[in-house]
Amino acid sequence: MFKTDTDHIDQRVSTGALPDLDETLGLLREVHERYRGLDDGAVADYIPALAKVDPSLFGISACSVDGHVADVGDARHEFAIESASKAFVFALVTDALGHDAIKKRIGVNNTGLPFNSVMAIELNHGSAMNPLVNAGAISATALMPGKTPDEQWHHLLAGLSAFAGRELTLDTEVYESEMATNQRNLALARLLQSYGNFENDPTEMVDVYTRQCSLRVTAHDLAVMGATLADGGVNPVTGAHVVSPRVCRDTLAVIATSGMYERSGEWMFEIGIPAKSGVGGGIVAVAPGKGAVGTFSPPLDVAGNSVRGQYAIGHLSRSLGLNVFASAAREGMA
Ligand code: GLN
Repeated sequence: MFKTDTDHIDQRVSTGALPDLDETLGLLREVHERYRGLDDGAVADYIPALAKVDPSLFGISACSVDGHVADVGDARHEFAIESASKAFVFALVTDALGHDAIKKRIGVNNTGLPFNSVMAIELNHGSAMNPLVNAGAISATALMPGKTPDEQWHHLLAGLSAFAGRELTLDTEVYESEMATNQRNLALARLLQSYGNFENDPTEMVDVYTRQCSLRVTAHDLAVMGATLADGGVNPVTGAHVVSPRVCRDTLAVIATSGMYERSGEWMFEIGIPAKSGVGGGIVAVAPGKGAVGTFSPPLDVAGNSVRGQYAIGHLSRSLGLNVFASAAREGMA
């Protein structure tokens, strides 16, 4: 395992800011106009309730670390958060259990395989590998503080609501639809249990995990939630301290390597922003120290990532200056 001895050194944050609100809004409108006609991809149909969502919906939102939010299109339309929740639940359990415990109990490495892969667990001797594939995400949910599944759920709901800055609610239709078709997630949890890597009751934890995935959010919410991770764990709109700066770093590192599943490497190469997608059509992309973008558009690529969302964030990574790897040559040195 890779070890460092740098915990005692203060972490300097990245510099720079998003353009002002008017300019950001103008850029968002341009991107919305450019990609709204794109009709590649297909809505998720392995969850019956998601198959009914209108594929033409398209919203984009950007939130800066000073709390300004720009919304365009269907940025206030509610949809199921799905896997985008995994990043925030990971942040909450890392806040509760600490960096080292999480690294040991869940893992932080890319699986290179689809989000619901059984083979990834088998190939890695019973390890879930990371908190953003389903096996690791169900493990993270199971590590939420609380003596009963209900207490864990309420802790999780309060935490995700604090990230969003409003009380999130459950989409009961999506929840019931997922529960009726959840055999694979149950199998993943049972497989981890068979390796001695799952202490809670798999059925109860898959139920809490499914509720978590069925929470309703908007692109606006995702932008605020992401901006909280960009701002050392302080929600820039409400001012609430949600998690520590250290937890934000841990979370963004995992999002960067695994947030877009088996396409994470290519995503970082092309777009260069830690981002997390969900099969409900949402993507949240976080530029540390600057802010975040939330997008919503239901049609997905084969890995389960929103197609219009990818294009929109790819464009904004350049025009808003979100790519964490971008630097300019020094004067006279080019
Ligand atoms: N609830 C979905 C599942 O477990 C989440 C998957 C996703 O958004 N990629 O299958």
